[in-house]
Amino acid sequence: MSYQHRFTDGTAADLPSGKVVCVGRNYAEHARELNNPIPAEPLLFIKPTTAVVPLADPIVLQSRRGPIHFETEIALLIGSTLSGVVSEAQARAAIAGVGLALDLTLRELQDQLKSNGHPWERAKAFDGACPLSLFVPAASVPELDNIGLQLQINGEVRQQGNSAQMITPILTLLCQIATVFTLLPGDVVITGTPAGVGVLRAEDSLRLQIPQMLDQSTDVTD
Ligand code: ZN
Repeated sequence: MSYQHRFTDGTAADLPSGKVVCVGRNYAEHARELNNPIPAEPLLFIKPTTAVVPLADPIVLQSRRGPIHFETEIALLIGSTLSGVVSEAQARAAIAGVGLALDLTLRELQDQLKSNGHPWERAKAFDGACPLSLFVPAASVPELDNIGLQLQINGEVRQQGNSAQMITPILTLLCQIATVFTLLPGDVVITGTPAGVGVLRAEDSLRLQIPQMLDQSTDVTD
């Protein structure tokens, strides 16, 4: 089961499937809803490539490990290496595509791990923990600071946001990440979730959209 990044026109990206660098608490309202302080610098964690699956595949709940929560996030497909100190222009040029991700989270387990001061990987980096949509080619996304995102579950809007609301905007984020983790072609950066996160239930139908650019659906099974 190997994952292949694809664009919205159906073509396969000529890029391997790499790691996913994730940003926590990048929307103030979401930090508040989980009673988390807003970090002074981006809170970063990683999901391995084995967490990545196509969004179109049904999401299988792993109920024995506790409830799985959804977090809808803007995802950036990296097309060329970013390492060390890079300019915003270099960061812009390295983005191959813009899509959406679900940062699936075993929230109760994460709360336990957090309260024990342990790493979060068991709660966020498990197999299948990062469904990824198709990617809109970056050239078709004129304004990185004005990308809308929306999640509907069973026809009801549950999450809605815009990259304009990010605490650390997209290009600043890439520059900061590159000083910590070299971003390689095929890696993905997911940029934090707006408010409205919640638990997934069997039989839920999810519809994820970037208005006018991307519209994908998926289902939840147990
Ligand atoms: Zn997240």
